[in-house]
Amino acid sequence: MEEHPQARFIVETLVKAGFSAYYAGGWVRDYLLKHPSDDIDIATSASPETIMALFPHTVPIGIAFGIVLVIVDGHQYEVATFRQDLDYQDGRRPTRVEFSTPEEDAKRRDFTINGMFYDPLQEKILDFVHGRADLEAKVIRAIGNPHERIREDRLRMIRAARLACRFGFAIDPATEQAIRAHAKELFPAVAIERICQEFAKGLAFGKLRPMLLMLHDFGLLESIFPTLHGVSEMEMKRRLEPLKWFPAAAPLIAHLLELFPGASLQEQLDLCKRLKVSNHDVNFATFLFHAKKLVQTRSGEDIDWAYLYAHPSGAVSLQIMGAHLDEAHREAFFKEHEARIESLREAIGRIERKDPLVKSGDLAAAGIGAGKQMGLLLKEAERIAINQRIENKDAVINILRSSSLWQNS
Ligand code: ATP
Ligand code: MG
Repeated sequence: MEEHPQARFIVETLVKAGFSAYYAGGWVRDYLLKHPSDDIDIATSASPETIMALFPHTVPIGIAFGIVLVIVDGHQYEVATFRQDLDYQDGRRPTRVEFSTPEEDAKRRDFTINGMFYDPLQEKILDFVHGRADLEAKVIRAIGNPHERIREDRLRMIRAARLACRFGFAIDPATEQAIRAHAKELFPAVAIERICQEFAKGLAFGKLRPMLLMLHDFGLLESIFPTLHGVSEMEMKRRLEPLKWFPAAAPLIAHLLELFPGASLQEQLDLCKRLKVSNHDVNFATFLFHAKKLVQTRSGEDIDWAYLYAHPSGAVSLQIMGAHLDEAHREAFFKEHEARIESLREAIGRIERKDPLVKSGDLAAAGIGAGKQMGLLLKEAERIAINQRIENKDAVINILRSSSLWQNS
């Protein structure tokens, strides 16, 4: 049974036109590991111009590298001409490529397990780099001289750790030695966004914690985060232990912040900025910081708790905090919050619906004009309603009338 008719069609079309074409790289590795995926990259002897002439729907996404996106029935595939990458100068990208043979194309790839091709027409693996043997031995091994390969592209050090952790593979000793030797040379070659992408992939496969521990062991983590210099392995394990219990919805930034216990809000925001995380993640970090404060000090009023519980990040934040507790305390922690959530159910619902008990129209009818005082009174009304569990708006307004805010009108 052919599971990828569109990808197969692309290969067939290229072969009928007299070229060779194969599925390449990561897909072949995942296929042999029985990890099904539709993320198929195709490598071919056809030039980008030929690829674009053969298929009606194409987008040249990396002409300098000979990469064309081919879209068939709404499925898109990267089709790349076999190439050799030449003249690496900045430690990240080649300055020149030359169209070449499948064997050379295999050899420009990073690790042996990523260097195989699959011929879907003959149903055959093409393996110029002993990838299959390493896949069976569960080894991540650089293709060729590991020092040279890392000097060409420093991101490969992070990729090695990510792939090793994703599959539970070992890193070949010579490759590992080269990573340790070059760990301090990650920057400026590698952009922080690319590192975060690797973290995100580690997280997506549920392997971020072992990946961070491995990067720490290799000396790469302190290259990325210099303040981690000198932190022991035991301390690192202690800091990352809660990740085991993190909810699936916890964003990447929440995981990474565990590396820095006791960081101030400003330090956390500086880190977010350096990592160039999304606004959503910045907002999440800020919310989590304040939520932790409220939970730790238990000094909040009911209105503070209600806003915490009603917030879209409220539940995830509580689960993250619970992840720091041992099992016995965790249960008590969640019980305490469940009980308070139950007792504040009406208020939480109103906050979620943005439907406060006392609205500006009610205060206007009671003689309050628009302006700053109106805003303050509305806030105070909400505070009274929630803290005193009053569900009747006139009762709230009566209490409000005797407040200094009202009397100053
Ligand atoms: P995943 O898709 O699980 O992240 P992958 O190995 O498929 O892993 P991609 O970024 O999709 O990673 O790259 C596809 C293929 O391109 C790889 O399998 C590898 O053959 C090659 N490749 C990717 N990045 C590099 C690199 N930095 N150096 C050399 N070859 C690379
Ligand atoms: Mg891939």
